[in-house]
Amino acid sequence: MTRQPFQFIQSLYSWGDHFVTGPEILLATLVSSDFQENSFVAHLRGRDDCLVVDPGFEPERIIEYLDQHRLVPGAILNTHGHIDHIAGNGALKQRWPQCPLVIGAGEADKLVNPKRNLSAIFGFPLKSPPADATVSDGDVYSAAGFDLEVRAVAGHSAGHVIFLWQAHRPWIAFVGDVIFAGSIGRTDFPDGDFDTLAAGIRTKLYTLPDDTILYTGHGPATTVGEEKRHNPFVRSD
Ligand SMILES: [Zn+2]
Repeated sequence: MTRQPFQFIQSLYSWGDHFVTGPEILLATLVSSDFQENSFVAHLRGRDDCLVVDPGFEPERIIEYLDQHRLVPGAILNTHGHIDHIAGNGALKQRWPQCPLVIGAGEADKLVNPKRNLSAIFGFPLKSPPADATVSDGDVYSAAGFDLEVRAVAGHSAGHVIFLWQAHRPWIAFVGDVIFAGSIGRTDFPDGDFDTLAAGIRTKLYTLPDDTILYTGHGPATTVGEEKRHNPFVRSD
């Protein structure tokens, strides 16, 4: 079989979300209407298990997608514990109780603390189920056929992690609210800090190959090279 190059296809999926497909990976982005938060479902061709990254509001749409594609989540990964990234954990755990819920070790308390996960501040206190596993900088977390390197990048949220998949070029990373296309995560929350975030972006993201695709928690995906050249908030030098 001729090996096709990894493709990056922006097409309209049923929710108007972009959909990336390549020879190995199928990646769907489901944008929740509240907070415009990106939830991701990633699976490897030929497998019926998948990763769900940052299930936010409207988890019923994620479940519908999984059912349509006959997928079972092998892990629920949270980049950090803010409510818009964790609001769907409960519905997924209810449907698939055996599926591990995974978050950075320094962030796990936010899952079960409405003040810390900011839901109380927004006026609708919510809790997620607790973490089944926690990860730390340098760990490799494996699920659904993916081996994901964990990198801790604090500054938006103290225990924020990113998940990096290096099996094929370009590499891809789920970066939550660390960086966005042309922007960066807010640093005005109680455990936020701009200098910490900028240092983390420079050492943990800008050191990746330029073609690494960054799947961000809000807005369109971007690449390391694009942000190194054009991000006005964190310059590469
Ligand atoms: Zn956040």
